[in-house]
Amino acid sequence: MKKYVVGNWKMNLTRADARELVSALHANGAHSTEQVSVVICPPFTVLSALQELTGHSIALGAQNCHTAEKGAYTGEISAQMLTDVGCAYVIVGHSERRRDQHEDDALIGRKAHRALASGLRPIICVGESLEERQQGITHSVITAQLNGIIDAASEEVAASSIIAYEPVWAIGTGLAATSEQAQEVHRDIRLHLQSRGISTTVPILYGGSVTSANASSLFDCPDIDGALVGGASLNAADFAAIVATAQKAWA
Ligand code: PEP
Repeated sequence: MKKYVVGNWKMNLTRADARELVSALHANGAHSTEQVSVVICPPFTVLSALQELTGHSIALGAQNCHTAEKGAYTGEISAQMLTDVGCAYVIVGHSERRRDQHEDDALIGRKAHRALASGLRPIICVGESLEERQQGITHSVITAQLNGIIDAASEEVAASSIIAYEPVWAIGTGLAATSEQAQEVHRDIRLHLQSRGISTTVPILYGGSVTSANASSLFDCPDIDGALVGGASLNAADFAAIVATAQKAWA
């Protein structure tokens, strides 16, 4: 199964800064290999500026798309618009959008469906809050999220997607899940997908304060197929070091 290192730039960087970062990624040797795909997900406004600089070595993804094909949705971006500027991937259901835009699992599933129909591979995010982990309900929370998304998207769409397990308490906090905590949930996700008849070869990425320091222990886990990286993806040396760690882990 192909492994992935995906950078989520969130709401950062203008076109000039974005071009500079991609050039620095190239200079630092962050590029896809047969085993590991490198993907960056910049803001919408810089995608077309990066189209020429990306492609085989670093693929382009977006951070969100709309459920509809086109139409009267002021301020929204369609999946087809993203393929038009060279995107091959799109993140859906990031916890920051669940929190700030009140996105729910059914909506996220519909976005994944539209994304795949438009030629984008969805990167579907799930994850529990700190409160939910402390209550010991992580398993049921993740299972419910997956079910809501799969019910709306279809098993076929889920089978062609990438799942990202991102515990909300680990995002941007510097407090990554331990490899044991992550592996346990990744295993649960894989078994749950299997129970719904979805291939066991769907990549499952870990996200939440991944750095070059903790990437190696995470990538050693049997059910972790790569990383979704936020903060560290804005630093070329850090992101390239995570890519290098992945390439070493899956050489
Ligand atoms: C993210 O927002 O997808 C993420 C994983 O962020 P960070 O790496 O900064 O925790």
